[in-house]
Amino acid sequence: MLRFTALTTAQNRKPVAVPENGKRSELFAQNVFNEEAMRQLMTRDAFAAVMNAIHNGTKIDRRVADQVATAMRDWAISKGATHYTHWFQPLTGGTAEKHDAFFEPVTRDRAIERFGGGQLVQQESDASSFPNGGIRNTFEARGYTAWDPSSPPFVYGTVLCIPTIFIAYTGEALDNKTPLLKALSALDQAATEVARYFDKNVSKVTTTLGCEQEYFLIDKALANTRPDLMITGRTLLGHQAAKGQQLDDHYLGAIPSRVLAFMRDLEQECLLLGIPVKTRHNEVAPNQFELAPIFEEANLAVDQNSLLMDVMRKVAERHDFVILFHEKPFAGVNGSGKHNNWSLVTDTGVNLLAPSKTPIKNLQFLTFFICTIKAVYEYEPLLRASVASATNDYRLGANEAPPAIVSVFIGEQLTQVLDALEVSSDNLSPEEKTELKLNVVGKIPDLFLDTTDRNRTSPFAFTGNKFEFRAVGSKANCGKPTMVLSTIVAQQLTEFKKAVDALIEGGKKKEDAIFKVLRRYIKESKKIRFEGDGYSKEWEEEAARRGLSNHKTTPEALKENISEKAVALFESTGVLSKVELLARYEIGLEEYVKTVQIESRVLGDIARNHVVPTAVRYQNTLIENVKGLKEIFGDSYQEVAAEQLELIRHISEHIKVIHSQVEAMVEARKHANHLPDFEAKANAYCNKVKPFFEIIRYHCDKLELMVDDELWTLTKYRELLFN
Ligand code: ADP
Ligand code: MG
Repeated sequence: MLRFTALTTAQNRKPVAVPENGKRSELFAQNVFNEEAMRQLMTRDAFAAVMNAIHNGTKIDRRVADQVATAMRDWAISKGATHYTHWFQPLTGGTAEKHDAFFEPVTRDRAIERFGGGQLVQQESDASSFPNGGIRNTFEARGYTAWDPSSPPFVYGTVLCIPTIFIAYTGEALDNKTPLLKALSALDQAATEVARYFDKNVSKVTTTLGCEQEYFLIDKALANTRPDLMITGRTLLGHQAAKGQQLDDHYLGAIPSRVLAFMRDLEQECLLLGIPVKTRHNEVAPNQFELAPIFEEANLAVDQNSLLMDVMRKVAERHDFVILFHEKPFAGVNGSGKHNNWSLVTDTGVNLLAPSKTPIKNLQFLTFFICTIKAVYEYEPLLRASVASATNDYRLGANEAPPAIVSVFIGEQLTQVLDALEVSSDNLSPEEKTELKLNVVGKIPDLFLDTTDRNRTSPFAFTGNKFEFRAVGSKANCGKPTMVLSTIVAQQLTEFKKAVDALIEGGKKKEDAIFKVLRRYIKESKKIRFEGDGYSKEWEEEAARRGLSNHKTTPEALKENISEKAVALFESTGVLSKVELLARYEIGLEEYVKTVQIESRVLGDIARNHVVPTAVRYQNTLIENVKGLKEIFGDSYQEVAAEQLELIRHISEHIKVIHSQVEAMVEARKHANHLPDFEAKANAYCNKVKPFFEIIRYHCDKLELMVDDELWTLTKYRELLFN
């Protein structure tokens, strides 16, 4: 049987040898056309033009583009590239690429390697096979990809990959990068203005992002025996192993040798690509691991995380593993997330979310800190929506993961600071002001040193010098949540600036004006702050009393993206238009439907083609046995065969339920498929199709426990997780 052959294969595997190809620091960014490479290979003019485009968003003219392209081509060919591609991030997740050769025949017997400015800067791409949420119907099917100079090109394998945006001919964004760049730019503008209250030398604020990536590694031979894992990325059934993660013996334990070889291989690949991977360790669940890079400018960090996932898949293959990015591949053990660590840094090198030594700098810290909290409070449903997906629905709100309720954790010390500020008065005497500055605002770094409290149950936690958004799914493109977070903070900072300026015009001193607005924000956003156990039932009830949203499913969550408030936000910040929002809404729901539909089909197939036939085979063995007993014992066989008879009956009962429930699920699917409108369809899949999964699974898992292990065809949890 496939299962046993696979188990033998898995058990006999040895770690793949991974040579260290030189010092890690020397490998770093060797295959990236970064500033260093450009400086060396480009004319001074071309280099200056690209730097200007990167730092100030200026356009690169055609003549310069030709020079850049030539340098890039020669560099890429020297690294072994034969092809180039415009590399982009479509709305379906993942990355997309179409390879073109540099090679071009010029006469019948002569060819050259051609790559000009035109090919670098812009490419036409058939958009019709990518989801566009109705934009296709209204506009032309074609779209184009355009070079994003702020993310450096790299050679991966034999292909020069040029990070690009992907937009429709009419200008609507068809990808995740375009709105992200707009959001980052809006945030830069808004944050710079506010930072200049404190330091006139600031002229740019950059968003930083570090994405901790969790994943599972499963032996390839074993994974191949599970159609559900291979097709949907998760196990749709399977009885929990007697041992799961109860003993906590996996977390930060010794890394298994095959996995260590994978990690070392992966790290070298990543370093060549300029991905600054730093940390590796076991995670909580068996066979679950984590990788964290050093943070980067957010756009680059998002590109690198997308690339990383791709590299991880390929390296896993070399080590005979299947890598699972699904948020909940196994019931009963932890799922995987992708913690997004987010902060802001000025071009003068100051982390705006790091408390500092002087009261005035701490007022700056408090300003950005409080404005972020206020933004999260105002737009919490949008943050929730930014991490919504069919796959993440199995994690959010399930009991080990962050809940579907967004709340902010800031720790005891900062809570005390905000409480003290909140009750301070608008009209402080000079002594009181000094007291506030020195003893409340000025004391933050001292207090901070003692902070050990880190609430792991909070979806949005302040962790010392950054916020950590933990509800992001392990499979997600981090561009989405980063775009939303950056947009809402941009909006909040703009409002903050307006309010403070108005007070200053009214005659208040700058500092007093800032305190006054912050005081109001602290009061207004208090409901979003929660320091307790985010997984508890009490919090769910309390959050409902506070009026916080708690959307447990993707269709519910996504609807928030087209609310009046959302449209006003995205339009006023210039990040997304209403047309784009509606298109994205439709695409999100379509993707949801497809995911649930596929799971439903696979589950139906496995239940009928694997589970039921195996159960019947075992039942037949039992029947034979009972018949034999009857022959031997005659009339008293019933007593001797009592257990067998009981089992035979139970097996029949489970089979019966499985059959009827699969039938009913197919009917529900048919009904849903016929619904004309995509919203109704998504709701039907969510509320009418998906509920069958648990019921069918329950009965299949019961059969797994009854049936002779020798007959069971599907690799079991204990085998998948402990090999
Ligand atoms: P944890 O305890 O969550 O593992 P770490 O200090 O190891 O915390 O940081 C986790 C991630 O946060 C890393 O990817 C790190 O690079 C990133 N990070 C640290 N500082 C910042 C920052 N200022 N902005 C964005 N990300 C950051
Ligand atoms: Mg973390």
